Amino acid sequence: MTDTPTQLFIGGTWVDAADGATMPVDDPATGEILCHVADAGAKDTRLAEDAAVQAQEEWARTAPRARSEILRRAYEIILDRVDELAHLMTSEMGKPLPEARGEVAYAAEFFRWFSEEAVRIDGGAGILPDGRNRMLLSRRPVGPCLLITPWNFPLAMGTRKIGPAIAAGCTMILKPAPQTPLSSLALAAILKEAGLPDGVLNVVTTSRAGEVCEPLLRGGRIRKLSFTGSTQVGRILLAQSADAVVRTSMELGGNAPFLVFDDADLDVAVDGAMLAKMRNMGEACTAANRFFVHSSVAEEFGRRLAERMGALVVGPGTRDGVDVGPLIDATGRAKVEELVADAVERGAEVLVGGRTPEGPGCFYPPTVLAGVDPESRLMDTEIFGPVAAIVTFDDEDEVVRRANDTPWGLVGYVFTEGLDRALRVSERLEVGMVGLNTGLVSNPAAPFGGVKQSGLGREGGRVGIEEFLEYQYLAVPVR
Ligand code: NAP
Repeated sequence: MTDTPTQLFIGGTWVDAADGATMPVDDPATGEILCHVADAGAKDTRLAEDAAVQAQEEWARTAPRARSEILRRAYEIILDRVDELAHLMTSEMGKPLPEARGEVAYAAEFFRWFSEEAVRIDGGAGILPDGRNRMLLSRRPVGPCLLITPWNFPLAMGTRKIGPAIAAGCTMILKPAPQTPLSSLALAAILKEAGLPDGVLNVVTTSRAGEVCEPLLRGGRIRKLSFTGSTQVGRILLAQSADAVVRTSMELGGNAPFLVFDDADLDVAVDGAMLAKMRNMGEACTAANRFFVHSSVAEEFGRRLAERMGALVVGPGTRDGVDVGPLIDATGRAKVEELVADAVERGAEVLVGGRTPEGPGCFYPPTVLAGVDPESRLMDTEIFGPVAAIVTFDDEDEVVRRANDTPWGLVGYVFTEGLDRALRVSERLEVGMVGLNTGLVSNPAAPFGGVKQSGLGREGGRVGIEEFLEYQYLAVPVR
């Protein structure tokens, strides 16, 4: 902890908040304060905005190869420090160390991927239909960006935005979640070490997100907002972005359906369920939220899932052998408790878990609920915890209709051995991503994102950089 920066990173320099304010960072496994970090106010974010705006023109002119090599160096530094970064992440966020190591590697991959994309930004040229006019197309960085990230993947949600922004030639202000500022500050230090010029990335940690971000979005100098977080906050930010017509990318909440058909391989389905439900203790936008299981296999699936979930070891993420760490904070855990209580009141059977343990830390046990009433609140609320809610179905049309009966559309999971059914059902699901006989879809080389109220735009893949680029069309008549 001693070497981790705790100040704001503005114009390439570490500084305190102008009014000297700080905020605590808690360890969710103990409830104890780990350290304090600078708590930025409006004056600090204005300075960060000045730095990003000033650096933009020169940064946009930097050779793509130079931008690529900075990302590549940062990728290598991250990989050299996997353990250190994983410990930092676990201490502020709670996920078990093996998962934290996995996230560090996943986060680094976005830098490797976008180091490769930086040198492949293409343009175009053509003769227009009249045969006289020529068209030259070039790609330009969109300009200074505001990047806002959540606490659940403290490093990867940052690199998934910073990587393409650097590759495209944009400058930026990153505002991480107040629960997990340390991973982002460590990332800024790594990028500085990798040679990122001053002012290209600025990091402001703050407990006053609304107060400091709104002037940036309405001010007209920030040209792009890339946000990952809840749909509720996404809507507010979209409205604020309208004034200055700020371009937006929105990675919002989910309510993923997990469909198990009667012809599914149950071993594969249970493995998939463990991943789709338990990755990150269920605190993932991609987490399976509603398990629709065919009535002929529901009992067997529930029994096997409960057995696997019940065998997981709950405890502090830094302890050896722990599979499930604490939830992020008391509010997050209280929400899970309320959703489970509501489902049980409506007649759900608790196959395993369902009881908050005594003692410090925000722990909640892996829980499987069977026979869940479809009217239960957890069917239309992101649970964001280790709770699998099983409902049954009998008919394909019926389950597709129920799966789509939600304002969200991030991801869906389909388990069947039939190719026809696999394709038919996947194509009918109103989601941006489908896991077919798998519980994991995230991959830096694939376009990640949702439809409906789960978001706008995509991150990762070939299209990830497009979100940070504009076209310029040059009209050239030839006499
Ligand atoms: P959140 O409450 O929406 O917060 C996300 C970020 O927005 C935080 O940094 C937060 O800071 C900031 N924020 C909140 N209000 C703001 C405002 N008025 N102006 C500017 N910034 C503001 O979400 P969360 O609880 O951190 O994360 C969980 C949510 O993220 C879930 O819904 C999950 O599904 C979603 N998520 C989506 C994806 C995806 O790729 N689709 C990935 C991961 C997570 P403060 O906490 O200080 O308000």
